[in-house]
Amino acid sequence: MLLGIQVSTAGGICESIPRAQALGCTAMQIFARDPRQWRKASLKKSDIDEFRLRRQSSGIKKVFIHIPYLINLASPEHGLFRGSISACAQDMREARALGAECMVIHMGSHKFSGEKRGLKKLATALNRILELTAGSGVRILLENTAGSGSWLGYTFDHHAAVLDRVEQKDRVGVCLDTCHAYAAGYDLASKAGYDRLMDEIDRMVGVKRLELIHLNDTRDALGSHRDRHEHIGKGKIGIAGFSRIVGDRRLEHAACVLETPKDSATADERNLLIVRRLMHRAARKG
Ligand SMILES: [Zn+2]
Repeated sequence: MLLGIQVSTAGGICESIPRAQALGCTAMQIFARDPRQWRKASLKKSDIDEFRLRRQSSGIKKVFIHIPYLINLASPEHGLFRGSISACAQDMREARALGAECMVIHMGSHKFSGEKRGLKKLATALNRILELTAGSGVRILLENTAGSGSWLGYTFDHHAAVLDRVEQKDRVGVCLDTCHAYAAGYDLASKAGYDRLMDEIDRMVGVKRLELIHLNDTRDALGSHRDRHEHIGKGKIGIAGFSRIVGDRRLEHAACVLETPKDSATADERNLLIVRRLMHRAARKG
């Protein structure tokens, strides 16, 4: 299992590489641009070249790029829908230029136009994006959500419904966020809850499609629909919950990326250390 963390791009996108490298990451996730704003400018070629160069000797096997929050690929509002598609396609092109493997996408919010309609819109949007970026090796991963408001993706039925309609199926996979899953009602603190989640993923999309796991503990109660990440082992999911995930042989092909709070200078280091210990323990048990 590859392991990494969400890293900052402060000072330039290429600065993310040494940050991940210093933490011994084999995978990393970044926002390629300001996640709370619409695009202002494209990445400079010199930044892209430097990013690729630094990555070569970094030991980072997979780079995931998270799309900005403003993008809503299920929006019932025409302008926002179209704007989201073109912004996402542009991000995909940049991801390819950077040599990133995957783009992580939230499934959007139907804004009370109905789930069915929202899922259909999302599939239309994905088909358009995949068509606009035909030939690109960058894969799209659909992340699950906590299910607040009218957000899609809190159940893997939604992923299945979208995948069913996607034409270039081999370019689309799934990302599981453990905090979101717990908030959506999957009790990852218990074995029964974990089994139920994994059965559902396998039945709905196939466990092989699960390529990325956002390992986050959570501050909020089961089924709360709230999305507040916590340090590994310090929240409601707890150490046993994470131990089950990283010890699951079916997930060996997947990468784990932490999006845990960065509330101290050593927070990332400590969270990674805990996960590495769990991984080693699981490997020893074999
Ligand atoms: Zn996440």
